[in-house]
Amino acid sequence: MTTIIPQFINGEYLPGQSTESQSIVDPATQQHLANLPYSSEADIERAIEGAEKAFASWRKVPVPERARLMLRYQHLLKAHHDELAEILAQDNGKTFEDAMGDVWRGIEVVEQACNIPSLLMGETVENVARDVDTYSITQPLGVCVGITPFNFPAMIPLWMFPLAIACGNTFILKPSEQVPMTALRLVELFEEAGCPSGVLQMVHGGKQQVDALLDAPLTRAISFVGSVPVGEHIYRRGCHQLKRVQCMAGAKNHMVIMPDADKNTVINNLLGAAVGAAGQRCMAISVAVFVGDAIQWLDELTEKLRAIRPGHWKDPEAGYGPLISPAAKQRVEALIAAGVNEGANLKLDGRQCQVAGFPDGNWLGPTVFADVTTDMRIYREEIFGPVLCAMQVANLDEALALVNNSPFGNGTSIFTASGAAARRYQSEVEVGQVGINIPIPVPLPFFSFTGWKKSFMGDLHAYGKQAVRFYTETKTITARWPEDDASSSAPNMTISLK
Ligand code: NAD
Repeated sequence: MTTIIPQFINGEYLPGQSTESQSIVDPATQQHLANLPYSSEADIERAIEGAEKAFASWRKVPVPERARLMLRYQHLLKAHHDELAEILAQDNGKTFEDAMGDVWRGIEVVEQACNIPSLLMGETVENVARDVDTYSITQPLGVCVGITPFNFPAMIPLWMFPLAIACGNTFILKPSEQVPMTALRLVELFEEAGCPSGVLQMVHGGKQQVDALLDAPLTRAISFVGSVPVGEHIYRRGCHQLKRVQCMAGAKNHMVIMPDADKNTVINNLLGAAVGAAGQRCMAISVAVFVGDAIQWLDELTEKLRAIRPGHWKDPEAGYGPLISPAAKQRVEALIAAGVNEGANLKLDGRQCQVAGFPDGNWLGPTVFADVTTDMRIYREEIFGPVLCAMQVANLDEALALVNNSPFGNGTSIFTASGAAARRYQSEVEVGQVGINIPIPVPLPFFSFTGWKKSFMGDLHAYGKQAVRFYTETKTITARWPEDDASSSAPNMTISLK
């Protein structure tokens, strides 16, 4: 019997009513795992109306009680950590260890949401005028929406709904239609933790369903994580509808390798950063920028990459899993072919990769290009596969110019023994997240995820204090409580506070 992945609307799990559906497939075997019926227009309307209704009571639930829901959820997520990672590894394909990390980085955001009373604190100034105090309070917006990608099936939904709901909003999650099984388990555990009916809703689908959520008058804020073209569409359409929108989008991340860095540290860090999760990470290092003589390390790096092999999520020796779909594999292979045609030096070719026992998986071996130039497609486009582009520059000035000319700005790193070089790089680089001797500098959730340029559209970033501001309005109150007889005050015909 085929498993049906249901929606979750007003406390009920029921299949989407659209005639469209998606088959959920194990990317290591092409085995059909489940069927995902999409939400109909009426489903989306019910989800929005239910969330709006639930908002009326949820916003009044005391903040410590909301924090306790998050504490219970954190406990349940930890208790089900292995089970969630197994589900995630099946629908996404990443290795079990990497799937455990995906869930863990989401749990860390839930821990941040447990701290919501402190995060919601406003500001007060006593005596802004005679007998007058001004203070601000932080209030929820209403119905918020989250649209998430396939590559972090647990972490990215958990970037969104726990903080939004802890702030007093209700939330509609539209997870990636490629990996809905993890999202379903996240929702079930949130219900088990005690989330009231209607506070978290889940609908399914693609563009049509997303556009309906963007256009609905009752949805107030949209969080999106995914590719640049879809992010641009969502940002434009959401802003046109006068919504609050934040879009965390695609990337091309450079690692600058100074010749004074420790060679083994560089190579060991670059291996996982370049091909871990089959390169399907928005913070993956896809460009290695060797400064001066550091280029001599490229051969050794290439040999070590040759030794890394993809495999099934249950295989503890596998370095990473398959690409998400045959279409994604074809896209990456076409980009590799474009790199060859444009004259890049293909030092390691991951095409024709086979994994014993899994002839149908979307496998691609580690791939390395040298002599890459900035006009090539493999440099200009996000490849989202286990493909590393190597480039050489003469000095730190040239490295900075190269990175700053890239339209993307999600993450970058520098490996060096020089504090001065690192300090200059962190100050002058036009990228929102910088690692110094750290390859993938994803901030922990008491900070925010601060991509720049084409990698982010909006004003306030994901998680941390910025997300609390994104999911709330500030109300500022100015109050006079005079001790003297109020009737003695004279008329004030000006705007000044007297
Ligand atoms: P995607 O853009 O194809 O899909 C993301 C979401 O948008 C999905 O829920 C999908 O259903 C929906 N969607 C797809 N097409 C749409 C359309 N035309 N209109 C409206 N909605 C649409 O992204 P993906 O392939 O799932 O994920 C990979 C991308 O996500 C990469 O580009 C990666 O860099 C990016 N990403 C960015 C971050 C970040 O924080 N900056 C994090 C993870 C992933």
